[in-house]
Amino acid sequence: MLRVEEALERILADIPRLEPEQVPLAEASGRVLAGAIASQEEVPPFANSAMDGYALRSSDTQSATAQGPRRLRLVGIVQAGQVAERPLEAGEAMRILTGAPVPPGADAVIQQELTETGADWVQVQAPVAQGNNVRHAGEDIRRGTQVLAENAILGPSEIGVLASLGVAHVTIYRRPVVAILATGDELVEIDQALRPGQIRNSNSYLIAAATARAGGVPRPLGIARDQVEELRAKLQAAQQADLIITSGGVSVGDYDLVKDIMREQGAIDFWRVNLRPGKPLAFGKLGSTPLLGLPGNPVSAAVTFELFARPVLRKMQGFSQLLRPMVQARLLNTVQESGSRRHYVRAQVTLQDGIFVARTTGPQDSHILTSMVGANALLVIPENSPAVQPGGMVQAMLLVEGLG
Ligand code: AMP
Ligand code: MG
Repeated sequence: MLRVEEALERILADIPRLEPEQVPLAEASGRVLAGAIASQEEVPPFANSAMDGYALRSSDTQSATAQGPRRLRLVGIVQAGQVAERPLEAGEAMRILTGAPVPPGADAVIQQELTETGADWVQVQAPVAQGNNVRHAGEDIRRGTQVLAENAILGPSEIGVLASLGVAHVTIYRRPVVAILATGDELVEIDQALRPGQIRNSNSYLIAAATARAGGVPRPLGIARDQVEELRAKLQAAQQADLIITSGGVSVGDYDLVKDIMREQGAIDFWRVNLRPGKPLAFGKLGSTPLLGLPGNPVSAAVTFELFARPVLRKMQGFSQLLRPMVQARLLNTVQESGSRRHYVRAQVTLQDGIFVARTTGPQDSHILTSMVGANALLVIPENSPAVQPGGMVQAMLLVEGLG
């Protein structure tokens, strides 16, 4: 049976990065830039004051002392958004507010707290250095320099920098559209009353939410009965998508028909991976569209989405980091021996006194979805591992961005 890494490698080998699209900057948060961006402008665009105070010529103040302050003639005011009415001459000063352009002729600003003022004068008690409190043009970004590399992820700071440069539209990689199909005669939609033997189609909702969180656009296609014609018809419609995700129907039972349709309309690469939960995981193609057949059990579907579907969606969007971060954590309770399959154990990881500690979140059977609810990590217990006792170290795959 395939190891998890081999299965992932085989899946990713065939997954293309999607084509770029242009979007308004406000819609680009979290997306991957499709080309480097160089600045056409300087930021700040002009020399301006870092303080509320007085613009002056530093050379006028070189002899100033507490005993012998230097008095300058006040010749006007310049506020943010304005420009000075005239240049500054020797012996003059101008009131200036934070962000206002430094008047021509001035080369420094003194904070107002360090001055004494009268109706038409201001005096300083010490020399003011050239450039004092002046933010120079281009000090943050020089014209012509690269501000963001190709494949940069657009977070709030990157978006802010682009906005300051007037970049109103950016070219980023397109989001993948994901067709989601549940299979099973026992399934009903979530707003239906349950008749004997029926359960609700929870997987489609879980997979749609996970898809959206991974940057994809979910297209739920409802439920297909365990019947070849219906499955064939619904999967036909799914081929418009960038990725098809089914749940259920990929095991070895008589009604596990997803594999049959894959063989008929495309190709099946593999349908078992050596892990728990989630062994019956199928990968192949329908026409030219990749299809991930997740197992029906909800936890198996959730775990295999994390391990296989999420990296696929990230690769399509141009991310270079495809996998969740792994940390070493100290176990607080016992984890059973893994057996021959790699075991992914639902757990809550927290930071205690600077080290990660992990506590499992309850029963680990693949139909117990509530033990996934409290989990922010999956402990990775290697194939053929003995039981791990409290205090033992384990690898934890973090499922969330920050540990709350
Ligand atoms: P299967 O892989 O089709 O044999 O399904 C395995 C288990 O998962 C069975 O108990 C199914 O009832 C359950 N199951 C399959 N599909 C879904 C679904 N969409 N939502 C919730 N449970 C499901
Ligand atoms: Mg089924």
